[in-house]
Amino acid sequence: MNIHEYQAKALLAAFGVPVPRGIPAMSVADAVKAARELGGPVWVVKAQIHAGGRGKAGGVKVVKSLEDVEREAKRLLGSVLVTHQTGPQGKEVNRLLIEEGAAIEREFYLSLLVDRESSRVALVVSTEGGVNIEEVAAASPEKILTFSIDPVANICPYHVRRVAKALGLSEIQPKQLSALLGNLYAAFTAKDMSLLEVNPLILTKSGELVCLDAKVGFDDNALFLHPEIAALRDISEEDPKEVEATKSDLNYIALDGTIGCMVNGAGLAMATMDIIKLYGEAPANFLDVGGGATKERVAAAFKIITADPKVKGILVNIFGGIMRCDVIAEGVIAAVKEVGLQVPLVVRLEGTNAELGKKMLVESKLNLLPADDLDDAAQKIVKAVQGAKR
Ligand code: ADP
Ligand code: MG
Repeated sequence: MNIHEYQAKALLAAFGVPVPRGIPAMSVADAVKAARELGGPVWVVKAQIHAGGRGKAGGVKVVKSLEDVEREAKRLLGSVLVTHQTGPQGKEVNRLLIEEGAAIEREFYLSLLVDRESSRVALVVSTEGGVNIEEVAAASPEKILTFSIDPVANICPYHVRRVAKALGLSEIQPKQLSALLGNLYAAFTAKDMSLLEVNPLILTKSGELVCLDAKVGFDDNALFLHPEIAALRDISEEDPKEVEATKSDLNYIALDGTIGCMVNGAGLAMATMDIIKLYGEAPANFLDVGGGATKERVAAAFKIITADPKVKGILVNIFGGIMRCDVIAEGVIAAVKEVGLQVPLVVRLEGTNAELGKKMLVESKLNLLPADDLDDAAQKIVKAVQGAKR
């Protein structure tokens, strides 16, 4: 789960991390009131969407009068912001952060994330702050430094010394950097974050380190431990198909391709996506209906897939172990009865009650193509989708 910048900053501030003074605003009147309260003379009007790259897209504006705060707030609220992270459809701006303007001396990049390879938290820093870090990684990877944090020792003095050296921070008190790194790490671990990205971290003209931007993501599997974090969720920022899937306890991730996949087991789902790519199309989603899915859950999954206009064909690929193939058939039939079926459907059932499942599908007179194995299934659905395109 991701949260907004203003929420992330409030959370970090509670851990003693320095952030600029700022007030969120949901309306133009709120924005002007917030600016008045902050006092100026320089304000920054920042669009709050769950995506970075706002600065370049016009979503972050430094202004010097209340009239300009009002004008920018009017322009941004309700507008659609397209950044390199939103995709071409962009994201609608419904919230703003009005912040005091900082006097920037230098901008750095800093992030903490879970490194699955080392099973530790990685601390990443770079002198190239304020810009797209993916570009830095591609063009000059030597400018990015990564430290692996030992979970017992936490942030150590030697991390602080090395980060200070890497960022050229000889002029500031080591205590300031040490407190910043320690507090960021404490926030990260205490709240089960999966990503904490500060880009930019700045050195102000008066020698202060301040987090000027904050992007935070949490481990969904730990959210039940943190109801105060779960309460920060902004559903309007999430893919409605994924929100729907979460309600039915489905592991669903929307993707860009044309073939909707309904599979049981994450491994089989990955293999199914791979083989679709191998035959020249791309999956429209990752979907694991799980081991003990009910007819209702299968139907919900099928409806989510068919409601996606990108889906030009559906591949049901089930290996029945605990999951029974007849339950899958029942769910698919129920969903099609309710919402119809406009695209080709290929079904491959194997394992527990496969024969019964196939028989039910045949008897239901659904317009589907049965397949014998995974290879056959993938080729059939790709052919059907590509045939329809021509
Ligand atoms: P994004 O990463 O989405 O582009 P940022 O919050 O990083 O958004 O803002 C983009 C740029 O705007 C920053 O790199 C910084 O130069 C400037 N900026 C952001 N907030 C402030 C602020 N409070 N004071 C001065 N400049 C700011
Ligand atoms: Mg940023």
